[in-house]
Amino acid sequence: MNTNKERILIDADETTARTIEDWVYPIVNAEYWTNLSFNTTLNCRDVFWSLIQENWVPITLEKKIKIFKSAIAQDIWKNQIRTVAWSVEKILELSEWYQLDILTARHPDLIEYTTNWTQYKYNWAIAKVFSSNCYYGWKVSKSDICKNEGVKMMIEDDMDYALELAKEWIKVYLLKKPWNVQRPEKHRNIVKVDWWNEIKI
Ligand SMILES: [Mg+2]
Repeated sequence: MNTNKERILIDADETTARTIEDWVYPIVNAEYWTNLSFNTTLNCRDVFWSLIQENWVPITLEKKIKIFKSAIAQDIWKNQIRTVAWSVEKILELSEWYQLDILTARHPDLIEYTTNWTQYKYNWAIAKVFSSNCYYGWKVSKSDICKNEGVKMMIEDDMDYALELAKEWIKVYLLKKPWNVQRPEKHRNIVKVDWWNEIKI
């Protein structure tokens, strides 16, 4: 691998993996008789905490992790969660010029699964998975990891992460999603795009 390539970090959930539509909501809706839908999701940062509680179904962190882990067991053939539109084409193109890694806030127990899913879906164009450890008190933020790794670009779908990164001079390509489309914030380091194929680096 050419180690002189500039690096880009890429978020996992809803940036590469259609986790909410294909994985979280079908399981949660079946288990809790809720009717959560992707297109009306206005808070994606933690769909379990925020949306489930809005639906008057309390859920503990332990229960949440248990649901995730049982879902991983079901996704052993990696066919349940699809890739976000145009992400495969764009990632394969970018991998010729950039070193690509994943940076996710998923629980550290999911890193091995995430690495396998990512390598399988993106034909080994993405090398590694970093975790920002949000489950352990946000000790290591996404911008900390970018700075430690010397990374100056990230592809994201979460406006709060995008703002945190942008303030640290990391350029963010923010994919349009139901939970960020109405966010009014602007920043010179945030480039809003509708789809992966609009990303021009
Ligand atoms: Mg995401």
